[in-house]
Amino acid sequence: MTEPLIFEISKRGRKGYSLPACDVDEENLEKLIPEEYLRKSSLGLPEVSEPDLVRHFIRLSQKNVSIDTNFYPLGSCTMKYNPKVNEDIAHLPNFTGAHPYQPEVSVQGTLQILYELEKFLCEISGMTKVSLQPAAGAHGELTSMMIVKAYYEDKKKERNIVLIPDSAHGTNPASSHLSGFQVVGVKSDKNGGVDLNNLTEKMNEKVAALMLTVPNTLGLFEKNILKIAQIVHTKGGLLYLDGANLNAILGIVKPSDFGVDIMHFNLHKTFSTPHGGGGPGSGPVGVREKLIPYLPIPIVEKGKEGYYFNYNRSKSIGKVRSFYGNVEVIVKAYSYLRFLGKEGLKKVSQNAVLNANYLMKKLKRYFYLPYDQPCMHEFVLSGENEKINDVRTLDIAKRLLDFGFHPPTIYFPLIVKGALMIEPTETESKETLDAFISAMVQIKKEMKENPSLVKEAPRNLSIGRLDEVKAAKQLKLKWKENSS
Ligand SMILES: *Cc1c(COP(=O)(O)O)cnc(C)c1O
Repeated sequence: MTEPLIFEISKRGRKGYSLPACDVDEENLEKLIPEEYLRKSSLGLPEVSEPDLVRHFIRLSQKNVSIDTNFYPLGSCTMKYNPKVNEDIAHLPNFTGAHPYQPEVSVQGTLQILYELEKFLCEISGMTKVSLQPAAGAHGELTSMMIVKAYYEDKKKERNIVLIPDSAHGTNPASSHLSGFQVVGVKSDKNGGVDLNNLTEKMNEKVAALMLTVPNTLGLFEKNILKIAQIVHTKGGLLYLDGANLNAILGIVKPSDFGVDIMHFNLHKTFSTPHGGGGPGSGPVGVREKLIPYLPIPIVEKGKEGYYFNYNRSKSIGKVRSFYGNVEVIVKAYSYLRFLGKEGLKKVSQNAVLNANYLMKKLKRYFYLPYDQPCMHEFVLSGENEKINDVRTLDIAKRLLDFGFHPPTIYFPLIVKGALMIEPTETESKETLDAFISAMVQIKKEMKENPSLVKEAPRNLSIGRLDEVKAAKQLKLKWKENSS
């Protein structure tokens, strides 16, 4: 069933609300507002009854594939189930009703949460100080590269190159470039890690930082990480960690222990905020001692009179976002961490790694696993290593929708042909993992025996295969011209 637009079910005069009679005198708008600001034509808002409105949006919401309805193994995105209690806490009226210009004395509780979450993130990462301001992972990267730039400018050293491995997320080169750095790629070796010879060759006194993802986007821990850090540090560079894959190492190893100088966290991935639909995120940045002066302002500090914002920091890169970041995402991360505690956090990563290895072992019998070694929290198969009846990775992803699964991340990382990047997370049961395995095995069978089933998928959804290029280039956002 196709769902009409809300404008298409609109009928003049229908209402989804009832208000008490007005108890003050009515005034004409013309008397209150200058003529030039008054609307000349009707606003054209939809007019619907309450049940029509409720059904419309409930039906729409049910067409969505979400973490609350389906297994969502979207690699690199850590689409774990987010406990509802964290939502409830973030929705307490003292948080939702707070105004950013309220005097500090009236928001001491919120400031305490900001302050303590920073301390938690320092404990988890081994970094010395954290800023909660950036609004997403990519924003954390950008903030970090601005900090790196400010650091070298302050030291009067000219370093304008950032090294990035070829397995990196696209936001890494984008953030470096936007911050004014020249990006130079570093090759991966045959085991999927950084090629040490290539790194040594590219590392010199012009390099400001190496941006590294650990575990990397193949889901592999960087075995040579200590050597890598040494190569970068010996030449006076900084080691930046893209912390998007932190879910694999919580409570097991601290990035500071393997030489990281500056990093970002994705609170919405690792610390339980629903994401993926463009909702708010949070990408805090953590740094070692020597980079603290450059962190964005303000910084939350604790003084004799309580918590306060410190703006008085002359070397800061300034503000990177309005106010203090996405505070409600921060509250959710805080409540999630308080609930789990130290041991719980370690279990998160252990189970995330266990689930990924279970899936990998079962699936590698059916799909090519280019880097065949124990993985961390995710792994990457190839859907196109040997083409079977011209079926593409995209087709496999679409067919999974018919079986009620959100597809994995596809065609990333770029170093695997037709990549299927699978991240189950710790929150899934063995039954769910087994059901996913069955679907993948079934798809493999169809690829051989009945490829059109796969190539024409999805068949069980209200909308089939879209022309994605056309959909992106010729947006059709208007409802019918003649609808009332
Ligand atoms: C998700 C991700 C990012 C970017 O984070 P956003 O919060 O989506 O901006 C960067 N690097 C890696 C490896 C990621 O998975």
